[in-house]
Amino acid sequence: MSLRARGLAACLPGLLACQPLLPELEAEGRRVSVGVQADVELCAGTLRAWDRHVDFVESELGIARDPTDRMEVYIVEDTARWCDDVMACYIGGWVDASFVPSYAPRAIWHELVHHVVSGSDLGMTDRFLSEGVAGTLGDSWCPTPGTDWPHPPLATVLAREEVLYEHYPLAAQFVDFVRQEHGTPALVDLVDCIDRGDPLSTVDECAQRVLHADIGAVDRRFQVATPALHGNPALCSGPSAPWDGRKWRFDAELACSDPDVVNTFGSRYGRETAVIVDLPRAGAYAVELAADGDASVEIEPCFCPTEGSLSSSANQGSVWVGEPGRYRFVFRTADPSASRLRVELWPIDDDEGAQAPT
Ligand SMILES: [Zn+2]
Repeated sequence: MSLRARGLAACLPGLLACQPLLPELEAEGRRVSVGVQADVELCAGTLRAWDRHVDFVESELGIARDPTDRMEVYIVEDTARWCDDVMACYIGGWVDASFVPSYAPRAIWHELVHHVVSGSDLGMTDRFLSEGVAGTLGDSWCPTPGTDWPHPPLATVLAREEVLYEHYPLAAQFVDFVRQEHGTPALVDLVDCIDRGDPLSTVDECAQRVLHADIGAVDRRFQVATPALHGNPALCSGPSAPWDGRKWRFDAELACSDPDVVNTFGSRYGRETAVIVDLPRAGAYAVELAADGDASVEIEPCFCPTEGSLSSSANQGSVWVGEPGRYRFVFRTADPSASRLRVELWPIDDDEGAQAPT
């Protein structure tokens, strides 16, 4: 049945309520198909990146969906018709689809995790556990440096219909904890053991069976060994560009037709590409940018920084201060004529003092 026909069929007499029509699907990837309800030219890398994320989630968890059943994703201006009062959602009921707003397309990484897990043999699990899996594989929950997310007892957040926004990071940490302490197969067994809506007694039985301890004992271990939060692994994966001595330089393609360029959905020509950079030591770095159009670079840590800003924009000739670790350099443009960008980075705070690029 075509999408339009399915939308109409949902409004036939006898059904309790009409379901909102879906936008047309306009492009198919290997695992995902997309409908975009916005004036956007779809770039070559967008579906490719989502396809890779589906593969990543499956391989991380050791699960699989039917590879011939493409997942429907809708990028829409306003998700309220489908998601009610949440910004983005995965629906596994009258339609099997993810809805993401064009103003916050990063939600796709989180919703696709729900989509993959729910569509596998695991089905719908406990809400907190479900948000934890989506959070650790598809989000970045770094707190503002110097603050912490709340850490309530597990018995107060498991077996609930709703998960408070401020408890999402704890859910991600709990999933990381289970994987680290018991292994990924145990996490998958736990997800499989608990069905959405099960009471706390069932959750407790599943914990005893899979983790060999009741929720209280699991919580005591979790309080001691809560893993660190981290950046979004969906965005922080991929090849890293090496340093050339003291200098790092990278040439980025910005053409929409390039297989690594993805839409930002913020405007018709909004697009970006990214590369991973390992920063060996802390310090101030000069950033030099050259492009054949309007473009910018944003530097995002793949870890939760202990101080400073979470991300920073750099422009022509700016100075950026970083701590050691892995970063994602994102190159953005909304200029249809921009096709290439070169960025150079070098330390300016060591004994040799500031140095001009050579
Ligand atoms: Zn979620």
